[in-house]
Amino acid sequence: MKAHILATTAAAALLSACTTAPGGEMDPIADAAVDAGVSVPEGTGYFASDSDLPFLAPDFSAVSEDDYIPAFEQAMAIQKAEIEAIKANPAEPTFANTIVALEKSGRMLGRVSRVFFALTGSNTTDRLDEINTEISPKLTAHGDSITLDPELFARVKAVYDNRAAMTMTPEDAKLLENTYEGMVHAGALLTDAQRERVKAINSELSTLTTEFSQDARAAMSDQPVIFDNRSDLAGLSESDIRSAADLATEKGFPGKYAIALQNTTQQPLLPSMENRAAREKLFMASFHRADGTTDIDTRQLIARIAELRAEKAALFGEPDWATYAMWDRMAETPKTALDFMEQMVPPLAATQRREAAILTEAITADGGDYEVKPWDWYRYANKIKAERYDLDEDAMMEYFQLDKVLEDGVFYMAEKLYGLTFERRTDLPVYHPDVWTYTVFDRDGSELGLFYFDPFQRPSKRGGAWMSNFVDQSDLWGTKPVIYNVLNIPKAPEGEPQLVSFDWVNTTFHEFGHALHGFFADQRYESLSGTATARDFVEYPSQVHEMWATWPEVLRNYAKHYQTGETIPQAMVDRIEAASKFNQGYDFGETVAAALLDMKWAALSKEEAAALDTPEKVDAFERNSLEELGLEIDLVPPRYRSTYFNHIFSGPAGYSAGYYSYLWTEMLDRDSRKWFRENGGLTRENGDHYRATVLSRGGTMDYFEMFENFAGRQPEITPMLEARGLVPGDEAADSEVSDDGPANVGSTGDTSVD
Ligand SMILES: [Zn+2]
Repeated sequence: MKAHILATTAAAALLSACTTAPGGEMDPIADAAVDAGVSVPEGTGYFASDSDLPFLAPDFSAVSEDDYIPAFEQAMAIQKAEIEAIKANPAEPTFANTIVALEKSGRMLGRVSRVFFALTGSNTTDRLDEINTEISPKLTAHGDSITLDPELFARVKAVYDNRAAMTMTPEDAKLLENTYEGMVHAGALLTDAQRERVKAINSELSTLTTEFSQDARAAMSDQPVIFDNRSDLAGLSESDIRSAADLATEKGFPGKYAIALQNTTQQPLLPSMENRAAREKLFMASFHRADGTTDIDTRQLIARIAELRAEKAALFGEPDWATYAMWDRMAETPKTALDFMEQMVPPLAATQRREAAILTEAITADGGDYEVKPWDWYRYANKIKAERYDLDEDAMMEYFQLDKVLEDGVFYMAEKLYGLTFERRTDLPVYHPDVWTYTVFDRDGSELGLFYFDPFQRPSKRGGAWMSNFVDQSDLWGTKPVIYNVLNIPKAPEGEPQLVSFDWVNTTFHEFGHALHGFFADQRYESLSGTATARDFVEYPSQVHEMWATWPEVLRNYAKHYQTGETIPQAMVDRIEAASKFNQGYDFGETVAAALLDMKWAALSKEEAAALDTPEKVDAFERNSLEELGLEIDLVPPRYRSTYFNHIFSGPAGYSAGYYSYLWTEMLDRDSRKWFRENGGLTRENGDHYRATVLSRGGTMDYFEMFENFAGRQPEITPMLEARGLVPGDEAADSEVSDDGPANVGSTGDTSVD
């Protein structure tokens, strides 16, 4: 998945392929090499050729850790030679001898990268981590050397400039466009002087964003909040209090108590803390992180980062960083993303005021004489939620056994919608004994691909859940998809039933939604295949599949009590549904505020960013950005304030101008659920239609057009607002208002990293 999301042309070329094409097709690279006398070296070892296993599945038993470095080095050398051969071709540049040849280059590199990065994610070792550190910068440099190669670009441009005179399939045209635009985006059209300036900007940005992440980390980890008395921590568990005492001693405050800050503005211990002054102290320390309240202050840093990004965008002829960064997104421009988010603000602000009034009432009933503040919010919201909805997670889990969730829930849904069937197999090598493998059969009974399911948490796995491919579907190579889903479900002790929480049930449906996007891929080129789509699109097909987790027919088929076999009571499911609309003013509001803040920063021109030349102006910019729209930053502050917003100010670009993507795909998702509900729900006809219009299209066409082909119209925001309990234009709406939609607990995207 990750490789796909990053699949601009450079990364795509990096992960694509070379050698002999199946079906006796001409191989442009081999021909060019012969003509130009450039010799492409042969690889050696396991990764030099395709796997012998069914579907070209990786043979984990044939690879050792010592194989990776030599395989990477060889694979890069081979691709380098392939690129030289393309450039040295004496024939005029054509689509086949340049664009397709580039797409086909680096096949060995694709093989080794897919296996290596799958393992560093889900079953790493110290040695693999070391190799990763060593090889990653080399891979980046290798990718840059291709994307920024002027001779290669000259050939690509020659083909591109001639495109009007060429006969191409729409997919060919898209590949050409992506290849050309990807290189332009990397700087191929800049003058030497501009390119020098971009390099200098990148280098300064690299220093500043590293400094930012170190400061933000220090403000979080090195500056815990110190409390003098045990009574300040009243309400916390004994073990939390003991940890606080230990941390205080460790930090040089023996006899006191210290609470470490967590990443987000809200802090997880706040709801349990009885002492209001202590709550305020903890919250304010979080809210004022890295804003000069202590000796750490990132405000000038972020203004400078914003200015440099805007300057870089200007060198590419773009008005702001967001416009530059969003070149390959569905939303395309910051205005589209901002307009979209701004539509949510009025109903959101109304809901926040309504929720605040309800919470203040609860505070009064509890004997308090103050209005709710952010540090009180979850303490009272959680109380009301527990009373109203009586959600008993442990009781619910007894209806969710992992193997049934997958085989009788997820696979059942895939059969009803798409006609797929599954066969467990035990003959394939896996990288860990807890990985399950299945052959997936298509609606006509033919083999569609292979599915690997790696459900359990373990120390060698990073957090979250994700999907990716060991083999991409491609007609050019004649390959079928080999796909894995990785989750982090706590493993039950030996001999006990493997039960999972409802959040993990949802995530299992979500990740399989990504898998279906990969299985139904029907592309010629790997770099456009399956999930190789825009960042603000790729989460849409996965999110929409969460709807089936609570679809009555599906639910009845898998959610059965592990002892009695009884089906989950409808009332229990209804309570999840109702609870999912509770407290959205805050839950949803803090995400919207963060996404708006991200886009406001990214939409600054160079001059506007340069004008933020004092820390106070940075503060004012942040506050105004939200308040001018009608959001009260002191009532519901953003999930991350600018001074510790790691997603957008750490690393090379991170999620900068991209945090809105979760909301954008949720809009597409909710609107699509509405379409399914209005058209008969879980039917083969609906599934086949969705497969034909969306799931089989990869990144080959305009995303708005794709959506319109599916729904018969452009996407609308209202179903999303309704699902969140936010009804536009209806300020008096009860937050308990319910429709026949399915539940949405924990599906805001944070459970899934990809
Ligand atoms: Zn996802």
